[in-house]
Amino acid sequence: MMDHVIESIFKPQKVAVLMLLPECNMTCDFCVIEETFEAISYLDAIELIQDLKKNNYDTLILGGGEPTLWPHDVFKLAEFAKSLGFFVQIGTNATKLPEGFETSPYIDRWILPLESVNFDLHNDIRHFKNRHHQIMLTVLEKLKNENKSIIVSTVVTQKNKDELVLLMDFLKKYQLDGGNIYAWNVYKLLPWGRSGEKNYKELYLEDQIFEDLIAQLKKNVNPLKLTVRRNMYGSDRVDFFSSAHGLVKKMPKKNL
Ligand code: SF4
Repeated sequence: MMDHVIESIFKPQKVAVLMLLPECNMTCDFCVIEETFEAISYLDAIELIQDLKKNNYDTLILGGGEPTLWPHDVFKLAEFAKSLGFFVQIGTNATKLPEGFETSPYIDRWILPLESVNFDLHNDIRHFKNRHHQIMLTVLEKLKNENKSIIVSTVVTQKNKDELVLLMDFLKKYQLDGGNIYAWNVYKLLPWGRSGEKNYKELYLEDQIFEDLIAQLKKNVNPLKLTVRRNMYGSDRVDFFSSAHGLVKKMPKKNL
């Protein structure tokens, strides 16, 4: 009995990422998305979510590409997933969010990108009409006002490595001012995908420099929770799903 209780308390979450489509309206320098899949149909997405439930997944991340560009209604899909009991997260670049997004009852957590507190530097890595940084600040503020849980994701590259401490300080202040940051996810650059592969040499950071930076952040990151993602496609706790040629499949794990 005791073993059972302990197991249920500490049962690791089973996380599924549904890659709704590969398309995006941004061209970030390190984008790891492959264009080997296609937009999933609404019915296939519904069936997949039902199967995930039967297979004991408890967290669903709606991603892409950019999920708000999915030709069906991503918020309606989130509503369906919530009706089955999923903890629903969305990974979005936040450029196409509808009016009132911050009050949506169907999204439990927002996963949002921020590479630097420096406008020019961020916008030089993440390309959207040279104003993505400004959009992010507005979205972060709106979510803070609604006490919405967020994950901030940051890819570390040669360009922003010297700005990470400033970014950490900014996020700590956001938290102190009433923000609800569940975690700061710091990603290692990967040599994959439509941009990551071709820009890898230019953005590359030696492993030791990355590890030293992480060690430096860890010293002062409290009360923020820092999560280091060295290979997001290799995690045995997170599975990625996408559709290709009308078939929905779990994507194979990738090792560096
Ligand atoms: S990394 Fe950038 S280009 Fe790639 S899907 Fe995300 S927002 Fe779009």
